[in-house]
Amino acid sequence: MIIEHAHSPRNFRELAGATRTVDVVNPLCGDHLTLYLDLAADGAVSDIAFEGDGCAISRASASLMTTAVKGLPQSDALALFTRVHSMLTTETVDEKALVDVGKLAALSGVWEYPGRVKCATLAWQALRNALETGDRPNDKE
Ligand code: ZN
Repeated sequence: MIIEHAHSPRNFRELAGATRTVDVVNPLCGDHLTLYLDLAADGAVSDIAFEGDGCAISRASASLMTTAVKGLPQSDALALFTRVHSMLTTETVDEKALVDVGKLAALSGVWEYPGRVKCATLAWQALRNALETGDRPNDKE
């Protein structure tokens, strides 16, 4: 499934007029991506998209992340970031935690490959940055 998402990533496009735009890079691998986030008045993620270039893991992770986060309230999106981030960086022993994250569990083996962890967490780091930028205006415009 990772391969499938890497080949045809979901939400891979520019989001014109996005509320937040965040650029992140992973110098270890050369992955870079731009995350576009459209937030509703109540803070919910009304739309999300990304562009960029990188390895299969970074693309698949970004694709899965945008699919999972779209439509979530901001607090749920941040909670999901926390869960997935710990799944990606430590061994998940709790089977239920894997069920909770649904398809994202496909990324759960990444923690065993320290060189790839940053590839998988890149999109999630961008998500957190975008959600926590506060009221800073979109500086891309
Ligand atoms: Zn990578």
